[in-house]
Amino acid sequence: MKENKKEMNAAIEALLNELTLDEKIRMIHGAEFFKSGGCERLGIPGVVSSDGPCGVRNDFYPNKWYVKGTSADFVSYLPSNSAIASTWNRELAHDSGMTLGREARGRGKDVILAPGINIKRNPLCGRNFEYLSEDPYLVAEMVVPLIQGVQENDVSACVKHFLCNNQEWDRHGVNVELDERTLREIYLPGFEAAVTRAKSWSLMGSYNLIRKEHGSESSQFLTDILRKEWKYDGCVFSDWSANYDSKSSGMSGLDIEMGIFDNFDEYYMGLPLKKLVESGEVPVEEIDKKVRNIIRLLLRVRKIEIEIKQGKSGKLSAKAVPAEDRDPGYYAGRVMAQHALEVARESVVLLKNEKKRLPLKPSTAKKILVIGDDANRMHANGGGSAEIKALYEITPLLGLAREYGGNTQVDYVPGYYVPKKFREEANWQEKSITESFSADVERRDDKKRKAEAKKKVKAYREEAVKLAAEYDDVIIFGGLDHDFDVEGADRKDMKLPYEQDALISAVLDVNPNAIVVMIAGSPVDMSAWIDKAKALVWMSYNGMEGGTALAEVISGQICPSGKLTETWPVHYEDTPTAKLGDYPGKKLSAAEQKKIKGCRLTETYREGVFVGYRYYEKYNVPVQFAFGHGLSYVDFKYSAMEVKKSDKGISVSVKVTNSGVAAAKEAVQLYVGEKKVAEDNPVKELKGFDKIELLPGQTKTLKFELGDKDFSHFDIESASWKKMKGAMVISIGSASDDIRCKKEVTLK
Ligand code: BGC
Repeated sequence: MKENKKEMNAAIEALLNELTLDEKIRMIHGAEFFKSGGCERLGIPGVVSSDGPCGVRNDFYPNKWYVKGTSADFVSYLPSNSAIASTWNRELAHDSGMTLGREARGRGKDVILAPGINIKRNPLCGRNFEYLSEDPYLVAEMVVPLIQGVQENDVSACVKHFLCNNQEWDRHGVNVELDERTLREIYLPGFEAAVTRAKSWSLMGSYNLIRKEHGSESSQFLTDILRKEWKYDGCVFSDWSANYDSKSSGMSGLDIEMGIFDNFDEYYMGLPLKKLVESGEVPVEEIDKKVRNIIRLLLRVRKIEIEIKQGKSGKLSAKAVPAEDRDPGYYAGRVMAQHALEVARESVVLLKNEKKRLPLKPSTAKKILVIGDDANRMHANGGGSAEIKALYEITPLLGLAREYGGNTQVDYVPGYYVPKKFREEANWQEKSITESFSADVERRDDKKRKAEAKKKVKAYREEAVKLAAEYDDVIIFGGLDHDFDVEGADRKDMKLPYEQDALISAVLDVNPNAIVVMIAGSPVDMSAWIDKAKALVWMSYNGMEGGTALAEVISGQICPSGKLTETWPVHYEDTPTAKLGDYPGKKLSAAEQKKIKGCRLTETYREGVFVGYRYYEKYNVPVQFAFGHGLSYVDFKYSAMEVKKSDKGISVSVKVTNSGVAAAKEAVQLYVGEKKVAEDNPVKELKGFDKIELLPGQTKTLKFELGDKDFSHFDIESASWKKMKGAMVISIGSASDDIRCKKEVTLK
């Protein structure tokens, strides 16, 4: 519905006029862990939020980090953002958002704290599974329909974490330094698209500092860029306990300070801020701006309407009343499971398929041995704030057993041993603030767990290897789990945990036809055995129907069509953060630490714009799998590429034909680069993509429109976008390293 801004603003002003300073202050900070304060006198309710992005999180007590534990909060478990992005399908992104929003509304929420869209700068980042891509264009294109889908349900999306929350290592204490071009070209576009194109009604600041200010109270980012440059009138939430100063918080573009502790009145934007207003240090107008944005959010999600009345004296009075006909939402429904399945199907990526080892047709598979804990593990209830209580979760093992049916014997052995979950405390979130997060990494690797594992590892491996030699068809699962893809802790390296390398290698030695499946939210080092594997499939945390989708791909019921949204390096040592950076950051001296409250480290983004494939291509670093890579069971032929100048810029078209015997989908990718690449510029950059479905033998023509911005770079000196000149190459292909046709254009 189109907003009538003038009417809305007048109503907001009328309601604002009724509020006392105390009431305003109560509205701008948490009153419970997932609810901000309201004003009962005027009928203004608090804003109720819950975490995403894989579904709506379990219910917690208002002021204790313990889950309520009833059966009312079982929800649909949706594919993680990393899975959604791997579909390269905007419609599916929309449907995922639609499902998430509908569930959130059904659970009585006003705001779903998702999607997370931080750039995957470093494969070790513990939260990469919650994020979309290393590429800003792909992030922007996928986040817009995702947010629009959420907000069709009278619920607000809350795009997070603004900005540069690209590592979990000491996420509270790390300060990010980056140059203006890198900021504009890599880190801002996703958020800009989220607020200006998708019109996300809310946004969350980050824990980390950027340019020496904490993200959730930053004048440079929340005020200057978000409010002034992008004219954002949505509601800005802090991350939970991310603030350090009442004045900075009060004066910044932040609207609601949320937190992890129950001393709500003492929050920086609680009584301490009130004192600053009373003493004149913070103008009341700053508080009013926040309250306006909060009321606007309540109107947008149709939680309230504002009733304005004229009294006998002619004086106007206003109060909030519950809006009529607010969408009630719905959750844990069958239709949601269907949407989740559709996304899951298209997110599975076929990385390698020598000698057409896959698909493994049910008609030929009589006995399958499934090896590996990840085949039998449920992931929904892990990962940090992304955890949810899934209505159900089809594991790969269940998916395979169902898919192959009663004529195929499907056997399972764990293959590798996984010790008890390292993060067992019910209230880990509270501890996450007071304890050093790196403690989690140590706990994960602690001696007790290691010793416990040692005993079992050998026995599990020997059992699996022995059996693998006896089966024609073996599918071996490995990868990560939410002990590694987890909020608050990065991985130490890209190596597979639980001695999986030794297991996979030994299985491939005795059974070279074994199919390998990796389940992980971020890249893993597979160099120990990858050359031996004929078939390799990857999927992220793929929701309640993940096992179904995977089994359908393995059996050939559907053709795989997912593509990587981040480069898979061979080793961690090959990455730009390892080669050029100070990751996890340079320790500040005690004197420096005193200067900025809460700052302990500085991480300088020395690679600049050369993040992901931009780096590997520029410096010719061999990778395991390139950005955009993903195979199909059919071949696609690309032909008849044309480039024409048009009024708007440049029109590009290409024909794609399915030359196989099955219906299949392909994510066609368009990249732009200079013919003679300038030293400062990437070789090429993604500027268009489209996912199409083709029946056997069918041809479709795809069209792309490129505008000035697609050929521009940010010039630091003039602080503006400058169009490149001279010969440019437009390439179209199936992956960044599988370009099928190219054309040159000259820009004047
Ligand atoms: C996370 C946010 C989350 C919030 C509320 C924080 O620890 O960083 O992403 O939305 O908690 O649970």
